[in-house]
Amino acid sequence: MTEVVRDATSAPPHEASRPLVGVLALQGDVDEHVAMLRGIGARTLAVKTRAELDAVDGLIIPGGESTTVIRLLDRFELAEPLVARVRAGLPLWGTCMGMIVAATDVAGVDQRSLGLIDITVRRNAFGRQLASEEVPLAIPALGDDPFPAIFIRAPWIERAGAGVDVLASHGGHGVFVRQANVMGTSFHPELTSDSRVHAFFLEIVARSL
Ligand code: GLN
Repeated sequence: MTEVVRDATSAPPHEASRPLVGVLALQGDVDEHVAMLRGIGARTLAVKTRAELDAVDGLIIPGGESTTVIRLLDRFELAEPLVARVRAGLPLWGTCMGMIVAATDVAGVDQRSLGLIDITVRRNAFGRQLASEEVPLAIPALGDDPFPAIFIRAPWIERAGAGVDVLASHGGHGVFVRQANVMGTSFHPELTSDSRVHAFFLEIVARSL
């Protein structure tokens, strides 16, 4: 029996139809996203190479440091293929730093970003009082219960283009946005035990297959 046949017979029959969600693993809180995704039944892949990027059905860019990750995306020659796949419809979710990387513009600084969602973000916008804080956030798209939103040196959304849905705001600024296949959160759902934002993204991924 060949390896290929053994692999095929050992996988549950539905395995291939479960979405494969990648988490960009150049820097940042990758493991927490992976654990949350597995908990809601997704297959996951830590993405560090072009081949891994090509394999996934959806991608999360986690929290971290946006200037570092932009530099690493260029160094690993992932920026161009990532932009091409997302423009072709690959679902993308940026959490915190990931939303900064995906945005059209970063306010007040000369910082490159990928231009995948028509928003202007301001880095570290909530200041010291929200350097790290959990806020009960109303997100009507996820139901009546507030979401425990954890902000860590978080960006806010200063401008959202006409095609962008603002799904939640805090202190008068958007903190959860979606434009077609791309979504962004200022906060970190992967650091909570509430899987509703991950389930929301997984639904977008499942519908895109
Ligand atoms: N302050 C970071 C940045 O601007 C983002 C913080 C985070 O992802 N928790 O890149």
